[in-house]
Amino acid sequence: MVNKAAWENLVNEFNSKGVTLVAVSKTKPASDIQDLYDLGQRDFGENYVQELAEKQQSLPSDVRWHFIGHLQSNKVKYIASFVHLIHTVDSFKLLVEINKQAVKSGRVIDVLLQLHIADEETKFGMNEKEIFEFMDYYEAQKGDLQNVRICGLMGMATNTGNVQQVREEFFRINNFFKHLADTSFVGKPYFSICSIGMSSDYKIAIEEGGNMVRIGSMLFGSR
Ligand SMILES: *Cc1c(COP(=O)(O)O)cnc(C)c1O
Repeated sequence: MVNKAAWENLVNEFNSKGVTLVAVSKTKPASDIQDLYDLGQRDFGENYVQELAEKQQSLPSDVRWHFIGHLQSNKVKYIASFVHLIHTVDSFKLLVEINKQAVKSGRVIDVLLQLHIADEETKFGMNEKEIFEFMDYYEAQKGDLQNVRICGLMGMATNTGNVQQVREEFFRINNFFKHLADTSFVGKPYFSICSIGMSSDYKIAIEEGGNMVRIGSMLFGSR
């Protein structure tokens, strides 16, 4: 069941702030996605390659599909022909594979680099040092990577009720985002997206500079 009132409230708030709402539909049926689509939502986020590929087949072709889960290199080929934005690039090897599959599809694929910040071992992503190393590789090889565009950063805060900690983590992510946008040639002129915030913490994320939020349970109910 889709919460239409919640969607309307979010969209009203986000439109005035220039924030993009990605409706996270993982584990939810295509009919729920269609319901939000009918209201006007176009950006949807999925975490699993096979689930995304199946849903994409059965839903309108102008849906903008965001991949927000951990992406294995050998699965890029299943989404490369249609994916709108991959939020979770966490290795240079993965970027190279996305570029390769984008070439095969005759596309340019937009990606975000996933910054690991939460103090939980299980979360994927690169820390700041690893992103700087990634940037060095990219700078050296970007002539061969014309079919990917690095459009910004994605990050997650620690799953905690400690609001101050969440705020500090989002601040750190946005600070790093701005630093890269200001000082690095990597990704210019596309480096403009800071994807932070979910149902429980999106308000803090926006206050701390996020301009793309990924919201699931608030729209589609708990999973
Ligand atoms: C599931 C998920 C979300 C949405 O989480 P909710 O708490 O349901 O809003 C956002 N981002 C990522 C990376 C997710 O995996």
